[in-house]
Amino acid sequence: MTRADGSSVAVSTVFLDLDDTICRHPTSGADRLADAFDAAGVEPFFDGSDVRRWLPEVSADTLLGLRENCFGAIADERGRERADALAVARAYEDPDPTDVEFLPGAEAALDRLGATHDLALVTNGGRGTQTAKLRALDIADHFGAFAFAGSDHAVKPDPEPFDHALAAMGATPAETVHVGNSLRSDVAGAHAAGLRSVWLEESGTVGEYDPHHTIGSMRDLCDPPWV
Ligand SMILES: [Mg+2]
Repeated sequence: MTRADGSSVAVSTVFLDLDDTICRHPTSGADRLADAFDAAGVEPFFDGSDVRRWLPEVSADTLLGLRENCFGAIADERGRERADALAVARAYEDPDPTDVEFLPGAEAALDRLGATHDLALVTNGGRGTQTAKLRALDIADHFGAFAFAGSDHAVKPDPEPFDHALAAMGATPAETVHVGNSLRSDVAGAHAAGLRSVWLEESGTVGEYDPHHTIGSMRDLCDPPWV
């Protein structure tokens, strides 16, 4: 980060998102959406591409609320019953939190970054669910602080979970970068809190947000783009 006088502040602290940045579920979101339609008894009328398109357009204080507003907006767009969309949103089951795997390069990136930087986790998700994932991956020890947004804090992109992690780490925004896969949650959230952003690129995603750095794989963090 460049100061007003032109000198630079070294990055000491790295915040990381969890889902689809460090880890993912072997069961795809598309399969879970299909299961939710099935469980709600609603004929499928949208798919994951609709969700990705609408998610940046809605907001809510909880993850369920976000899903309801997103699915509801799609129903409005399609001229479908909003009640059907809400039923699907409520039937959508988050998968077994212990059934997670590392994204390629993520484990090595944590080891590499952890040796040279202070790390904190800033994730949208329930404390219990996300903690179970950290345990399953055996990576909790890497982090000096945790912000469970949507559970203990407002959902990203609200700056509150980032501010909490900054305070817990005793770090300033200027010396901190945030790494995540979502332009809306991670990049916009980091910018709202005054942090530099590293976007783990998701193919097919376009948005109005402009990350400071873009990486194609978590492997790229072994040679940090902000240095
Ligand atoms: Mg994510």
